[in-house]
Amino acid sequence: MADPKGFLTTPRQEWPRRPVAERVHDWNEVQVPGALLPIVGPQADRCMDCGVPFCHEACPLGNLIPEWNDLVSREDWRAAADRLHATNNFPEFTGRLCPAPCEAGCVLAINQPAVTIKNVECAIADRAWEQGFAPPAPPDRLSGRTVAVIGSGPTGLAAAQQLTRAGHTVAVYERDDRIGGLMRYGIPEFKMEKRHLERRVEQMRAEGTKFRTSTTVGRDVEAAELRTRYDAVVIATGATAWRELTVPGRGLTGIHQAMEYLPLANRVCEGDLESSPLSAAGRHVVIVGGGDTGADCLGTAVREGAASVTQLDIYGRPGAERDEDAEPWPTYPKLYRLSAAHEEARDLRTAPAADADARLFAASTLRFTGDADGHVRSLHLVEVDAGRRPVPGTERTLPADLVLLALGFSGPDQGDGLIAQLRLELEPRGTIARDAGFATNAPGVFAAGDAARGQSLIVWAIAEGRAVAAAVDRHLTDGTTRLPAPIRPYDRPMTA
Ligand SMILES: Cc1cc2nc3c(=O)[nH]c(=O)nc-3n(C[C@H](O)[C@H](O)[C@H](O)COP(=O)(O)OP(=O)(O)OC[C@H]3O[C@@H](n4cnc5c(N)ncnc54)[C@H](O)[C@@H]3O)c2cc1C
Ligand code: SF4
Repeated sequence: MADPKGFLTTPRQEWPRRPVAERVHDWNEVQVPGALLPIVGPQADRCMDCGVPFCHEACPLGNLIPEWNDLVSREDWRAAADRLHATNNFPEFTGRLCPAPCEAGCVLAINQPAVTIKNVECAIADRAWEQGFAPPAPPDRLSGRTVAVIGSGPTGLAAAQQLTRAGHTVAVYERDDRIGGLMRYGIPEFKMEKRHLERRVEQMRAEGTKFRTSTTVGRDVEAAELRTRYDAVVIATGATAWRELTVPGRGLTGIHQAMEYLPLANRVCEGDLESSPLSAAGRHVVIVGGGDTGADCLGTAVREGAASVTQLDIYGRPGAERDEDAEPWPTYPKLYRLSAAHEEARDLRTAPAADADARLFAASTLRFTGDADGHVRSLHLVEVDAGRRPVPGTERTLPADLVLLALGFSGPDQGDGLIAQLRLELEPRGTIARDAGFATNAPGVFAAGDAARGQSLIVWAIAEGRAVAAAVDRHLTDGTTRLPAPIRPYDRPMTA
């Protein structure tokens, strides 16, 4: 703690975003380039170096937050980068994309705005790349043992990097044509430019990890074959089976799942397509689902030039302040938050709601109606109470010629045959069952990330990848490992 009074003298200041009118005309990240570094030192100085740092406790990776805050305030960027990478393989991803449970748990947040931990993390990660503090770290010697990792999202990548660095020969199988999982074709470019992903993949290649893209395990290659070819298999296939909305009119054209829509916009950014076949340009867009996936659809539709965008949330509008009884500090509270996408829809008045917030809260979809060609034209909704019962007399109709369903995901996709071929046992909610050591019922086969945990966050996915790597390393060696295991399979975020 370079400045013991920092938290008293310096107000919280976040990495500023570019003006809405500018950023909606491109797909680049929303923050002002270069504007973080000048402010981040004094922000790190706000850290109180708590005796019991709840920021660290709230992070599934166990990030050494007070240590790197201190190192940043002393401008020792190399040491800060070392401490950051000691617990997180990909801090440039979490520094941009994490909802930061660490900040909700920050002790300063009891009566003041939290330390900008996520910004400090991002600044260290970016500086590490710029100054060459994150070179490839190939193993000194090979173990002669082999591992197949199925899925190249944050779980698979973290597991592969840990196991490669431990000396095992690792191949990552990915059904998409590019590496990255939901970070590649789900999360839009304006939240994280894909160059960050490319750089890490290059680092991993240089360390010796092999990548096999456009290969669906279960279809292009038999899962059982992988089991005989490799000493261990890690399933990190995510939870991509989307939830459906079974209301009248669902079969009309113009109604799509978020993960049918977002990948096409991402492919435009990758240069694969000139324009998206599902572009929102000139259309009245309604997004069903109030979560982050819905917000990603919102920001994408705004950039594509939608005539209007509305996002429906079945939950009531949350308060601006934490409910101390239901969600006390240091838990992660459900608050009214204005994401960059919501700000854009409001400022551009593409949102039709009364206060120009693109969101309608406590709104439940009743049915869709369409035109003579069978294309959706309207969405009919009703307001609901806290028990999701319709409030009489609140039915209304929204113009809708593109509807995007962002209702979450139920578990791993079973259409590829992987789960059936390995005869994997599932949990009642559809995720892959595993024991306390991340092992499935199939010998030598481990499961991690959203595929086993259920839909979660990137920070949990990286923690899962690191933890499953430790379990696999133990399986491949004499029962010992030097790899860290930050979480157990049944660990969950802190709740009251
Ligand atoms: C639109 C969207 C936005 C999100 N935004 C955020 C955010 O801002 N911050 C955050 O923390 N979290 C966010 N999340 C959640 C986060 O992306 C996931 O929790 C995380 O990516 C899970 O990682 P994973 O590696 O377990 O799975 P995934 O990222 O889903 O990766 C699984 C990979 O396995 C591949 N695969 C599946 N089956 C096979 C097979 N049979 N053979 C070969 N490959 C296969 C898939 O193609 C995929 O690439 C978002 C999710 C969505 C959908
Ligand atoms: S809880 Fe907040 S103030 Fe305390 S060590 Fe962590 S970041 Fe610093």
